[in-house]
Amino acid sequence: MNCPYCQSESTSKRGFSPRRHQAPLQRYICKSCGRLFNERTGTPLAHIHKPAEQVERVLKMRSEGMGVRAAARVEEISHATVTLWEKRLAQMESNWSPAAPKGSDVTVEGDELYTRVGENRPASKVSGGR
Ligand SMILES: [Zn+2]
Repeated sequence: MNCPYCQSESTSKRGFSPRRHQAPLQRYICKSCGRLFNERTGTPLAHIHKPAEQVERVLKMRSEGMGVRAAARVEEISHATVTLWEKRLAQMESNWSPAAPKGSDVTVEGDELYTRVGENRPASKVSGGR
């Protein structure tokens, strides 16, 4: 995958980013700028340490008109987290917009989030020897 910082294509796998309660993310190092990144870096999901499906569910609830606190209660997360996700993803609206624009009736299709994440996902089996 390309480096999210300098867009260089010369990157290689370099271990994994550990995550709490979840499978680690494949980590990469950029040979051009030397920065480490993982498959979520540079995406709306960067720094969101929750399953993509949960983020999607929450945003769907919000787009259905559910209140921040109600949605947070259902998912057993803090309302601040819900607000943060909305803010984060609204910023990325140019390339991904789960939050419905005001007044319209856009909903996120179930697979859309997975598709986005999947694009950057390496093959599930890690090839050894590198
Ligand atoms: Zn780079």
